[in-house]
This record gives sequence, structure tokens and C-alpha cells, in this order.
Amino acid sequence: MTAPRTPAAIVADTTADLSWQEDLYKYLHAHPELSGAEEQTAERIEQELQRFPEWEVTPKIGGHGIAAVLRNGEGPTVLFRADFDGLPVAESTDVDYASKHSQLNAQGERVPTMHACGHDHHTTSLLGAMAILTDTREHWSGTVVAIFQPAEEASIGAHRMVTDGLGKVIPRPDVCLAQHVVAGPAGRVFTAPGPVMTSSTTIEITLYGRGAHASMPDRSVDPVVLAASTVMRLQTIVSREVPPGKFAVVTVASVEAGKANNVIPDSAKIALSCRFYDEELRKKCVDAIKRIVRAEAVAAGAEREPDFKFVGLLGATDNSPQVFGALRPAFDEAFGEDSTDMEPWSASEDFPVLPKAFGVPYLLWTVGITPRKQWERAVRAGRLDIDIPTNHNPGFLPDLSTLPVATKAAAVGVLACLQSQWPSEEERAGGAAAPSTPTDREIDEVAVETSGAE
Ligand SMILES: [Zn+2]
Ligand SMILES: [Zn+2]
Repeated sequence: MTAPRTPAAIVADTTADLSWQEDLYKYLHAHPELSGAEEQTAERIEQELQRFPEWEVTPKIGGHGIAAVLRNGEGPTVLFRADFDGLPVAESTDVDYASKHSQLNAQGERVPTMHACGHDHHTTSLLGAMAILTDTREHWSGTVVAIFQPAEEASIGAHRMVTDGLGKVIPRPDVCLAQHVVAGPAGRVFTAPGPVMTSSTTIEITLYGRGAHASMPDRSVDPVVLAASTVMRLQTIVSREVPPGKFAVVTVASVEAGKANNVIPDSAKIALSCRFYDEELRKKCVDAIKRIVRAEAVAAGAEREPDFKFVGLLGATDNSPQVFGALRPAFDEAFGEDSTDMEPWSASEDFPVLPKAFGVPYLLWTVGITPRKQWERAVRAGRLDIDIPTNHNPGFLPDLSTLPVATKAAAVGVLACLQSQWPSEEERAGGAAAPSTPTDREIDEVAVETSGAE
């Protein structure tokens, strides 16, 4: 009996037609839609899915979410997720497929839109991987689930698909995969086990004072001064309470107080965005935030306690060492020295909501998309931070040569998981406890609150 062919060998031999990919990518790139409003994008994806009559397609899951399932005999079930929402950013690139699109946001304002995070790339690559998997299905067996997910940037798309019954329309996966394009040498594929993306906690805080005439500060409890001292004191959490060498970000991204120069207002609002890899440290910092905010209010003589509104909560992306072990050798074979280690990334992702809903292991990897010459020039000049547009920057533009790379990575990743053994549901239930993450209840409460606010 001959050994089964490796994922890299299977993908190398494919004759799948991928000639449509670049046009599709350019179309999606030129027509970005905001989180939750991806109607035309979803329609176009559904249209593209007609290329694949072998896959069972379910549209409109949790809004514009789509699932496609290919059953191909006995074996594991592997889920691969691509997101497809854009951002309210005005594109500054000069390619002929740059977005000139705009859309009404939730507040009814017309805003320019851009695929500044590469979700158009993710979607095109997954469709390409579906073509390869369909073409090579005599070489593998099992089930593949392709998930096209809306509203990632709002952190609610995956949650909505799950709560809208995703589990009822797809077979239960054994393992979940996703990839993300990033600033980095074009075509490099980055993987790592363990925490690779941060958890995100967003808090809006209202500080109450007592309003007065601006000329009579003695009659007020001034919330502007209270907000100022609170913002400064919050800076001491990371500098004085977090162990040196541990990752934590506590950013006060918004301060709002007062509308007139002669009125001391009666309240102030601050909004915080906090990022962590370690869940214990997240809890410690959230406690410290509450302690400092309350104590500053007491110090100011405020009569009313501050209000805390948790408006966003995502767990960290904590890659499974087992999935990493299954994928990395396949990537090394497929990409040679372009398969390399991933550095943890301080951004956050809602992808882990999907594997968590099924209680299964997962891996998210990244693919570099910056033209190599541009990257190397910036490295030589010591100007990586300045010259290379990152995700969400108006100049973020994946090199077109990276579409086939991400397509191949998706196909190789799925095949590597199809060729591996995964513990059954019963075995998992009896196994080690899942790593500490925000509880489902915590996330549900926040997600419900956020989805109402859109
Ligand atoms: Zn993004
Ligand atoms: Zn993204």
C-alpha cells in the first residue's frame, strides 16, 4: 500500500480553474460594504457558489452569513471561515480597482468604504480553495464546511451566525481554521501555537459630577477635571500593575464632556479599548479600571457612582498546539522557507467564537501581502512603521501575487486537517478543561448589548 499523498502534493497537482479569481477579488475590493450591511457582497458570493453544485449552500445565517458543505465520505469535518465586511475608510491607493464606494452608516451618515483589512482577499481565497478541494476530492475523504461570515469588524458576525442556528445547518466540525492577511513580506505564511491575537474589552464609562456656571467652580463637582485625573491614573495600570514583560493595552480612546465654554457640565464620558493575551491578567486589569474610576469619583466628591457599560468583549485567539502540529509540516512542505513563525498580533478577532461554540480546537494563521521590494526597502531604511500600510490604513493593498498563496494555504490547511485524527466529542468532554477565556455568558451579554446598538 502506498502512503497517502501529502497535502502539498495534492494541491500541486490540481488542474482546478482559478482564472476567475482575480476578477472576483477586484470586484469585491471595489465594492466594500460595512459590517452588517453586506447585502451585495453576500449576493455575489452566493452567485460564485453556483460554480460548486457539489456543495450544499445555506444563505442568510445570522444576517448575511453563508455556509457551504462538501460531503466526501468518511473522515473528519473541517470548517474554514472567511469574513467579508469592509470598513468606513476612504481608500488612498491608485489601482484601477480602488474603492470609490460609499454607504450609509448606522447613524445615517454617508461614509466612504474600503476593504482595508483584506476580507475581500479572505473570501476570494476560500472560494479558490473550494475549487481545489472539489477538483482533488478523489485524494481525500471527509467533510469540508466553508463559512462566509459578515460583520467581523463589529465583533458580532460569528456570534450572530451561531445564535441563528449555524449548528443546525452544518455538520459538527472537528476542527476550525481561518487565515488573515497582514502587512509582511508577500507570500510568507505565518503560523504559531498558543495565543496569537488579543482579547478585546471595550468599556464606556460615564462619570457624574455636578454642573454649575463656569465662573463658580466651588458650586460644582467638575467632571472635566475628574475625567482628566481618571485618564491619567488609568495609565498607571499597565506601567505599575502589569508585570514587565506581560502584554496589556489600556487605551482611553475617547473623552467627551461639555458643550459650552461657560458651563461646567454635569457628566463626562470616557471610552476604553483594552487588549490582552492572558485572561487572568484581563480580569485583573478590568478590576483595576473599576477600582481607579470609582476611587477618582470619590476623590472628586462625586455624589453618584460612575456607570460602566461593557460594549464589546472578545476572547483571545489561542491557537491549538494540536492543530498547529497537523498543519505546520504541511505548510513547510508547501511553502518552503516562506512557512515561518507568527509573532503575536495585538489586534483581535471574532473567529474563535465559531470553534468555541462547537468546543473544538482551532488555528488562525496570517499571510504577508506587502510587495517584497517595498518591504525590503522599508527594512533597509528602518522605516517599517512609517512606510508600510497596516490593516485598516487607507493605503493597505494586498499584492495580487498573494491571492494564489492564500488560496493554496487554505486548501493545504484543510487537507492537513482531513488527514489527521481528532478526538471525538466524548473524548473531548472527558479531557482537560479548556483554557481560561471569558465565559460564554459574559460574551453573550456583551454581544447582545452590542448587536442592539449596531
Ligand atoms: Zn480589521
Ligand atoms: Zn480583519
